Amino acid sequence: MSLHCPGPAGVLWRRARCRFLLPTLAVFAFAATTALDAQSQDDPDPRIHVVRRGESLSTIAQRYHTTVRTLREWNELSGNRILIGQELRVPTDGREYVIVRRGDTLAKISRRHGVPVDLLRQLNRTHRDRIYVGQKLKLRPSHRDEVVHVVERGQTLIEIAKSHGLSLAELRELNGIRGDRIYPGQSIRLREVAQEIHVVERGDALWEIARAYGMSVDALKKLNGLRGNRIYPGQELRIRRSGDHPTPDAVYVVRRGDTLGEIAQLHQMSLAELRRKNSLRGNVIHPGQQLKVRPLLGGTDRSEIATLEEVPWNDLLPRIDAVPAIALENGPYYYRHPTAKVQSSDHYLEAPTRRPASTYARAEALWKAFEKRVESLGYLSHTLDGWHVVLDPGHGGLDPGAIVESVDGNGNPTYVVEDEYVFDVALRTYVLLKLHGADVDLTLISPNHLIRGNEPATATFVHEQNEVFHSGSINRQNRSSSWPRGGPQGLKRRRDLAATFFRSTAPGRRIFVSLHADNAPAAPEAKSVLFYQDRRRRDRASERFAKALLPALGAGSRVRGQNLGVLRGNPADVAVLIEVRNVAYQYEAWALRFEQLRQRDAEKIVKGILDWVGHRSG
Ligand SMILES: [Zn+2]
Repeated sequence: MSLHCPGPAGVLWRRARCRFLLPTLAVFAFAATTALDAQSQDDPDPRIHVVRRGESLSTIAQRYHTTVRTLREWNELSGNRILIGQELRVPTDGREYVIVRRGDTLAKISRRHGVPVDLLRQLNRTHRDRIYVGQKLKLRPSHRDEVVHVVERGQTLIEIAKSHGLSLAELRELNGIRGDRIYPGQSIRLREVAQEIHVVERGDALWEIARAYGMSVDALKKLNGLRGNRIYPGQELRIRRSGDHPTPDAVYVVRRGDTLGEIAQLHQMSLAELRRKNSLRGNVIHPGQQLKVRPLLGGTDRSEIATLEEVPWNDLLPRIDAVPAIALENGPYYYRHPTAKVQSSDHYLEAPTRRPASTYARAEALWKAFEKRVESLGYLSHTLDGWHVVLDPGHGGLDPGAIVESVDGNGNPTYVVEDEYVFDVALRTYVLLKLHGADVDLTLISPNHLIRGNEPATATFVHEQNEVFHSGSINRQNRSSSWPRGGPQGLKRRRDLAATFFRSTAPGRRIFVSLHADNAPAAPEAKSVLFYQDRRRRDRASERFAKALLPALGAGSRVRGQNLGVLRGNPADVAVLIEVRNVAYQYEAWALRFEQLRQRDAEKIVKGILDWVGHRSG
């Protein structure tokens, strides 16, 4: 694998990318992530679930991967009636405990179950590593060990305190909350975290944590006695040895519209920690103010960009002759700027103002210029030389996908439109894949925007119905049926387009990735990678590919087989659909609004593909 950050032109930009991409090229060891094969215990310790508004036994059963019948048995219920606030015992996914046998030591149990000694200590709070025969030891964190709780609609502070065994006062102190006012999507910190510790949150990947703290993955694993790459939400990772130089704080430059709470949340800190680090008393901050923060997982901390005078990611945009970019808070835009400033409701839309053919002509001109700009950047590696990736931004055109209400840092409603956000993630993914040598095509393009920033994050993307299929022949027909829309016909077009793009690609090197943001209250909040499966067929090659992406996607991400139109009969060698976020959960909708986190999602996907390709050829 050759790495280089070459060339004089565009050097500033490239330096930025190289600096933040190079560590991702480190060889990613695929140590077997064996399931915890503890002795089979038939009484997995129950977790407590506090019933929320709108939940039923069946949604709760789905959430915990169990059945309504089991829930009834465990809770001695006869019917389906449950009450808001009621505490239910729910089964964990089993085998999370082990009973200490004669002759066992922490070290032996650690070896037998592949659980680091540090984690055993953390979970079981053992005194001088003393354990006794018959003792039940936890092998994995439960939700009680997690460091954050994300508020869902209808939850109260007292409920959250109760379900995590904390007092209301502790919770208020830690999170700088005076009264009881909390809002959906807000991360409530559940404990204080020492400076030299990073507590894994949902979605955190080992490689990102290592990079954020300036370590190699191997060094991080060694420091924490990890053998595989599997980490769990709630697991404490040491990021430096005691006595080492303290890890320097990162700096965040406050932007207009920022709130202290959201800055803390973005950097995985409690408000108390953020205040203490910066000797702040109240909540007043001003644009331009510099705050000491924990490093942002993922790449683009704009403060670093500012200090290094590097060109930020969202300036990676072409100048088209005679079409000046229109600078807007949620832009830039090109031929035409949206009518509304932000998405103001769940039904607002801007219908196309032109026919498909002329919309396509503009989109194609913009795309060509963008492609050229990206190709002028050179390469970070040639890992993906000869590979061809078709990226399929979910929905678009007349079909927006999910539109959900979220809440900003002040508790005001904001709206997130699936297709607009995943298009942005797709473009970021496009650039990164190209920088590693891949051939990349998008199934959809837009006439008026490319990668967009949103500063502040409350400047949401508007639902515009102007994306077109990336196909001259479809748009030449110039009919209303030429617009992308939902349904079998629209999905078939995406597959057909992929087949056209792949026409001259060598078999074995064709990857198809459809990007979506799920809105599924019954599914877990983690990232999901879906492959094709129906009653008769299971696409095993894609399933293996999907599984290989998980370590890069981070703690809690999952793989699932599903009968999906865009994957059925897909011409690629491996075809998956990634639910980048599940916007049914408030935190996930919140996260999509931040370009830093969209960038992080794009990086995770590319890192996963790089690892998979590297693993196959290495
Ligand atoms: Zn979707």
